[in-house]
Amino acid sequence: MKIELLPSSFDGNGRATLEQRLTCFVIDDRVAIDAGSLALALTADQHNQVRDIVVTHPHMDHVASLPIFVDDLYSTLKEPVRIYATQEVIDLLERDVFNWTVYPRFSELDNDYGPVLQYVAIPPGQEFSVAHLRMTAISVNHIVPTVGLVVSDAKATVAFSSDTAETDEFWHTVNRQKHVDALLVEASFPNSMSRLAEVSRHFTPAALGKELQKLNHNGLDILAVHLKPAYRQTIIEELDALGIPKLGVMEPGRVYEW
Ligand SMILES: [Zn+2]
Ligand SMILES: [Zn+2]
Repeated sequence: MKIELLPSSFDGNGRATLEQRLTCFVIDDRVAIDAGSLALALTADQHNQVRDIVVTHPHMDHVASLPIFVDDLYSTLKEPVRIYATQEVIDLLERDVFNWTVYPRFSELDNDYGPVLQYVAIPPGQEFSVAHLRMTAISVNHIVPTVGLVVSDAKATVAFSSDTAETDEFWHTVNRQKHVDALLVEASFPNSMSRLAEVSRHFTPAALGKELQKLNHNGLDILAVHLKPAYRQTIIEELDALGIPKLGVMEPGRVYEW
């Protein structure tokens, strides 16, 4: 399974930088998890192939360019873009994003070939298929309805926490997997901002360190994501100080393979 965290920041020469402002993972160049930078940083091939997008929650950093992505493809789509999300999140996207005010309600529009956007409601806790992948969505502890994901293909299993504070069901589901190759987990704020992390339901490195004691698997790659750009260096140092084997920070723009 090939996974890339799409870049969302670029320098004056257009080169991707390491700061992560938006969240969007692309799996095997064809399935997206969240859509923060989806319309901004795909290769041409990925742009032609990605039609399945799993949205973990409706926060702007996870859906910012989703409307633009559909808009760019509008007249050329021969099949709809499929958005997989819990019914709660679908309702919020329709109410707050695709509401004819912020952007058109694409789910009511057709091009010459048919519908351009279709929702697929995903049942939390039950396995579902997205393209060639099997996924399970687990409700996590964030300020809006949010799911983490366990994603498998024939070879590998990777868990995504999405945005969350202390949570249990996600770890139970991860622990039930026979084998887990990688965990992509959020670490948003430095330890000095634990109060803000608590009220906005995110992890600091210290909170993540405690949380990882719930993980029963050993030897997997643990990659931190969602580091607030302004505190990136401090968060990296605090993650290093945890001394957890194979814990690193995921680099936007780099392709990881498990
Ligand atoms: Zn969020
Ligand atoms: Zn976020």
